[in-house]
Amino acid sequence: MDCLFCAIANGEIPSKKVYEDDTILAFHDIDPQAPVHVLIIPKQHIRSAFEITPENSAVVAHIFEKIPSIAKSLGVTEEGFRVVNNCGDAAGQSVKHLHFHLMAGRQFGWPAG
Ligand code: 5GP
Ligand code: ZN
Repeated sequence: MDCLFCAIANGEIPSKKVYEDDTILAFHDIDPQAPVHVLIIPKQHIRSAFEITPENSAVVAHIFEKIPSIAKSLGVTEEGFRVVNNCGDAAGQSVKHLHFHLMAGRQFGWPAG
């Protein structure tokens, strides 16, 4: 299977890592949309949020358990940050491997564009 984030997860493609453990990886986005823009992915291939099931949801919970310490390591807990998942074409999901954007360092509008 040809998947960019699987290749980043297994080290075939280098990334600027922020956090890694056995099941998840956080790394800087190559085209940041904010002063701090990190992607958090499960190492296992899950195509999108639409593919989250009772069998694989523990890794999603694990990502969210780690978000506070990842945000702390990035120094963005005081000011606040945004966590975003784009699911499918209408949302603009360009990489078909589940990922959460953690963004900070500027004011974010709402509703999101
Ligand atoms: P999506 O649009 O699917 O929600 O987000 C995909 C993100 O992956 C984009 O923000 C894009 O900049 C980022 N991205 C795409 N290719 C690479 C890459 O090779 N390395 C890194 N670090 N980020 C990438
Ligand atoms: Zn993948």
